[in-house]
Amino acid sequence: MTGIYVFSEDPRLAAELVTSAAALADEVHAVCLGADAAGTLSATGATSVVVLEARGTTGAARPEAYVAALAGLVRDRGADLLLVGATVSGWEVAARVAALLDCALVSEASVITALPDGAWQAERVMYAGGAVQTETWTGTAVVTVAAGRAVAASASGSASPVEVVAVDVDERVRVLSRTARVRAGVDLASAARVVCIGMGLAEPGDLELAGDLAEALDAEVACTRPVAEDRGLLPTERYIGISGAHVHPDLYVGLGVSGQVQHTVGFRDAKVVVGINTSPTAPLFAVCDYAVVGDAHEIVPLLAAAVRARR
Ligand SMILES: Cc1cc2nc3c(=O)[nH]c(=O)nc-3n(C[C@H](O)[C@H](O)[C@H](O)COP(=O)(O)OP(=O)(O)OC[C@H]3O[C@@H](n4cnc5c(N)ncnc54)[C@H](O)[C@@H]3O)c2cc1C
Repeated sequence: MTGIYVFSEDPRLAAELVTSAAALADEVHAVCLGADAAGTLSATGATSVVVLEARGTTGAARPEAYVAALAGLVRDRGADLLLVGATVSGWEVAARVAALLDCALVSEASVITALPDGAWQAERVMYAGGAVQTETWTGTAVVTVAAGRAVAASASGSASPVEVVAVDVDERVRVLSRTARVRAGVDLASAARVVCIGMGLAEPGDLELAGDLAEALDAEVACTRPVAEDRGLLPTERYIGISGAHVHPDLYVGLGVSGQVQHTVGFRDAKVVVGINTSPTAPLFAVCDYAVVGDAHEIVPLLAAAVRARR
């Protein structure tokens, strides 16, 4: 066996996978689909970077077109595991590689452990955070890992060796053009602090109140789904939860948020959780480090002033 191979078409996620894999194996090989990504990955401390270069393509191939090449690499080099970034494309790639290799596919692993007998174990969160499933297996497996599970490896002193491998790709489906989705210009997933408003603070004037606290904390403003979808107070990119954004902030402050599991699963990796709610039985308080029972209209300005006073 020759260590762990990692792949994601997103170089930032690929760098995170290198970090995760480095905790499990001495050798970590990062696979990418172009020279640009190779530059980023060669600075992550990976044992090597393998660039899959399509032979004679007529257009930009999708990651899915490299499935056979990726499967061949994993098989020929006897990889222990292939970690794949859990993106829409990554899910496709992972499932197809596992099918070609006829090996196990472990999806959305949150924790991976190498067991002493050579077997592997992974934990995955299920039912919107209501349960954690543990799976064990032996032999090669393809494992998908979501963004935010590890800190991306920072630039190491020496660049990893880069190997370019010419491969045949499946060009039956080609990308003809791309149109960027219009976004509200927010990247909640990488926000260090988030102030989240719920239906308890969702009148138009309340946005200013939450915005002021966010400004004091240097935080992004986010919301629950009904605030975005029912009230239209904020764009849908700003709602957190199972069907919205998944955030990993150092600080999450929930204002008038009840704390239903469909929402809380979206910030389950937050380091410190603060809740302000008029109801002492709000479910949010069960996941809070600091719980304030009271009217957010009264408490938020006091909190913002207190934060500013300490700056
Ligand atoms: C399939 C499915 C998927 C879903 N996905 C998501 C998702 O991704 N994200 C998401 O957020 N939701 C999602 N939901 C909805 C979710 O179940 C909850 O309904 C929603 O999160 C509740 O939003 P809320 O906390 O803002 O509102 P509410 O549940 O109405 O809570 C409002 C809270 O504000 C408090 N309050 C009222 N006035 C004040 C005040 N003045 N000061 C302080 N507190 C006050 C109340 O006590 C209450 O606890 C989903 C639901 C389903 C069925």
